[in-house]
This record gives sequence, C-alpha cells and structure tokens, in this order.
Amino acid sequence: MNQALVQDVVAEVMKRLDERRSSRFGGGGVRAGEDAPANDEKMRERHAPTLPIGQHGIFSDVNQAVDAATEAQKKLVKLSLDDRDAIVKLVKRMAKDNAQSWGKIELDETKIGRLDHKIEKLQILELVPGVEFLKTAADSGSNGLCLHEFAPFGVIGIITPVTHSIPTLTANVINMVASGNAIVANPHPSGANCAALATREYNKAIAAKFGIDHLVTCIVPPTLETADAIFNHRGIPLLVVTGGPAVARAALGAKKRAIVAGPGNPPVVVDETACLKNAAESIVKGAAYDNNLLCIGEKQVFCVESVFDKLMQQMERAGAFILNSRQIDELTKKAFRVDPKGIPHVNKDLVGRDASVLAEAAGARVPPATQLLIGETDAKHLFVQEEQMMPFVPFVRVRSAEEAMDLALQSEHGYRHTAIIHSRNLDNITKFGRMANVTVFVANGASPAGLGLGGQGYLSYSIATPTGEGITTPLTFTRYRRVMITGSLRMI
Ligand code: NAD
Repeated sequence: MNQALVQDVVAEVMKRLDERRSSRFGGGGVRAGEDAPANDEKMRERHAPTLPIGQHGIFSDVNQAVDAATEAQKKLVKLSLDDRDAIVKLVKRMAKDNAQSWGKIELDETKIGRLDHKIEKLQILELVPGVEFLKTAADSGSNGLCLHEFAPFGVIGIITPVTHSIPTLTANVINMVASGNAIVANPHPSGANCAALATREYNKAIAAKFGIDHLVTCIVPPTLETADAIFNHRGIPLLVVTGGPAVARAALGAKKRAIVAGPGNPPVVVDETACLKNAAESIVKGAAYDNNLLCIGEKQVFCVESVFDKLMQQMERAGAFILNSRQIDELTKKAFRVDPKGIPHVNKDLVGRDASVLAEAAGARVPPATQLLIGETDAKHLFVQEEQMMPFVPFVRVRSAEEAMDLALQSEHGYRHTAIIHSRNLDNITKFGRMANVTVFVANGASPAGLGLGGQGYLSYSIATPTGEGITTPLTFTRYRRVMITGSLRMI
C-alpha cells in the first residue's frame, strides 16, 4: 500500500474512532466498572496471578518480560529454519491436542461465545501460515546477485482480545516465531488466565525440546499500565494490537510502528439475484459462529424488498428465529444503555451470549438449539450501527441494490474491515467490492470463508485493517533486507 494511502486510511480511522470510541468503552476507552484495564488496582485484585511468576514466560513486570524475551529471541535466530519450523508445528499440535480442555477453560473464564466454536478455533490454528511463507527471492544479472530477505524485528509487543484469547495469542506466536521473533503479550484481563496457561505450556514444551524458554511471555495481570509500558519500551520495536476502538486508537497514536487489527461492523448485502437459500445458510453460519464474536461475522443485513420476505422464510428454514418488533424493542432496551450525552453503550452481559439468553431478554421463547435471532429494523437502529457481537442480526428492507450498498457502507463506519454480498450479478459484486474497499470481502459465502474456512487462503486472528497489512502472515512481522553481492556469483 502506498504511504499516502496508508496515511489517509489511518487519518480516516482515527477520526472514526474518535467519533465512535465511546460506543463500547464508556467514553474513556473502557466500559465503566467492567473488565477493561481502566483501574489497575482493581485488575490486580480481580486477576491475581494463578501461575508462578518468572517461570515459563509468565511475568508481572514488563521489563523482566522484555529481557527474557530478548534473550530467547537471540537463541531463536541461532536455530536453523527447520528448527523454527518444528517449533511452529509443535505449537500448532499443542493447540489442537488441547483444544477441548483449553476451549472449555477459555469459555469458563471469559463467559462469552460457544464451546464448540471455542474448540474449533483452536483446532484450525493449523491453517495459520508458518516458516513456508519466508521465501528468499533472488535477482542475478550483469552486476552480480541480489537477495531479498525477510528478517525478524526482535521482540514484538502484542495486545489480544477477549473474544479469542488463546487463538489470537497462538496465531500470533505461529506467525511471529516463524519469522524469528519473540513476544511480550498483554492479553485482555478477562481472558488473561487462559492466555497465561497456554503461554506456560508452549514455553515448557519449547524449552524441553529446543532449550529456549520465554520465547512467548505473558504479563499477568495485564493492566493499562503494563500496556503502556509495552507501548513505550525501547526493547520492543513493533506493536501488534488486536482489539476494539479504544486500543486501536491508542496504538495508532503510539510513537513506534504499530500493526493494528481493529474493530469492524460487517454488513451483508442481498440483491434480487441472490441464491436466497445459500444466503440464509451463510448468514446463519457466519453470524452464529461463537455467538457472533468474530470481528468478520455478519452483523447486519440489507436486502432488496422484492426478495426480503422470501429471505426471511429461508432464514427460518436455516434455523434462525424471527423476533417481532415488540421483542426487538425489549431486547434493544436491555442490550444498550444510552448515556445522557446520547452515546450508546453495549451491555456487556449480553455480548457473546447464547441466542436463548437474548430471546429471554426479548421476552421470547425459542427452541433451545436456536443459534441465531433475527428481525426487521430500520437502518438507523442501534443493532445496525453498533458492533454489538450478539447472535441477533437486524435485517433492513431497501428499495434497490444501490441503496443496500450505500446503507451497508454507512453502517461499516469506514473501518474497512469486512463486507459480504449475496448476488449472481457480477456488476453488483464488483461495484460493492470497489465501494467497500474492505480488507475481507466475501461474495456468496459465509464470512469465515474470508479466513480460509470454506474459502481459499490462510487463517489468522489478527486482520490488520487501518494500517493495511490485511490478514497477517509471518511476512507481516519481518523487515525487508537486501543482500547485494556485486560483481560475483552470476552463474549464467
Ligand atoms: P477490547 O478493545 O475491549 O480489548 C482488546 C485489547 O485491548 C485487550 O487486551 C484490552 O485489555 C486492551 N485495551 C483496551 N483498551 C486499551 C487501551 N486504551 N490501551 C491499551 N490496551 C487497551 O476488545 P475485545 O472486546 O477484547 O475484542 C473485541 C473487539 O476487537 C471488537 O471490536 C472486534 O472487532 C475487535 N477484533 C478485531 C480483530 C481483527 O483482527 N481486526 C480480531 C478480533 C477482535
């Protein structure tokens, strides 16, 4: 991406985040009185470390963690690439082997999402790319040989979200260790214990087999103070932040390079040419995944009026339950609190909860296996405009595909994260893809197809949006280096 474009995107997103930062974080970047790292004392009390400090990557002090990770990184780069590959494969295998127990531990700690998907998100980490992405390119000519190589940064500071605590940590480990880096992690406080557990297990296994401890370090308990210490530590040349508006904003304002995997609010457009059965099944699949915690998950649908009722029928057939307008009003009252300044705040108690819990809040009774609630709203509705991460998806009736696209993009708020379209009209797909200019664009599939699940491509849980790196890979965490051997080694 060219520099001017990156700056434009960053400026636009900073503006958006400024305008909208309070929607989920109580105006100051956190939900008041909740688990966000606003009050360091409270955090320390609530998240007392359960693992021994100083052992196998668990640290309470950022300086100590950086020192330990720095030593580990020096040892890592002395290993062969085959050994690095073996470490990455070990981490992938551990995530898969422990998926059942770690998935449950993560759900018990975070209390959001679904067990089946918590487990699956760990099993599919094998789709995250590793050492194979580091391919040295070469040019040879009259003037000699030029190598294009990808070198590590050193120690990378990472911030991870509560929505996928162990998966994001692990995907970052796979990518970053593959490219020769060590890590200092500040996980979300509400998912810190499970992240620390995985950190310890990875280090124990890596130390036993390769003699390197503390390749991944995790700060326990993570606080705003420790995040700040990571942001400002001279031993950390690169930040990688995965999270919502407040942390994205903080990282975009940091004094060092930051790769920012920020928030989204993915809209879906359904036009009159769409296969409605496929559209409905895809929307259920994507939006119900982990109770709509995925940042790429379908959050609101804009459907042309000529097929709107038929789409709703297909949605019911696909397993969604339709709330009436009274029930939607009830749910909205409980899902959002609007403060005296008119700023909405999402009720954390309903984020990532089962559809049956939302139905109860709406005063509706649904079959226990119901995965997703839906209902008709207008385009200005809070459920349309806010990234609410609940298994309720609002459907907006529009006159034309053009109107659907316009409203869809308004609801995406310029995050340039993810957008989805269901259409057999190539012109509409092309037009929306160009207009949306998002990082992940899916046509005629469920949103997870954009991460290689039911689509082509590879997986990562950090999708760099405002800073433009896209779905991260080991190459994202490398420094380009040119090696030029002048006047020799041209063999032809
Ligand atoms: P969150 O923003 O509450 O927390 C994310 C991380 O940032 C946590 O570790 C938190 O402790 C930390 N944090 C929050 N405010 C901070 C600040 N001011 N300074 C330093 N650290 C701070 O988000 P969440 O609820 O954990 O995750 C959901 C959000 O993350 C959604 O907005 C979702 O779209 C986004 N997300 C994006 C991606 C992506 O790849 N783009 C992936 C997953 C989640």
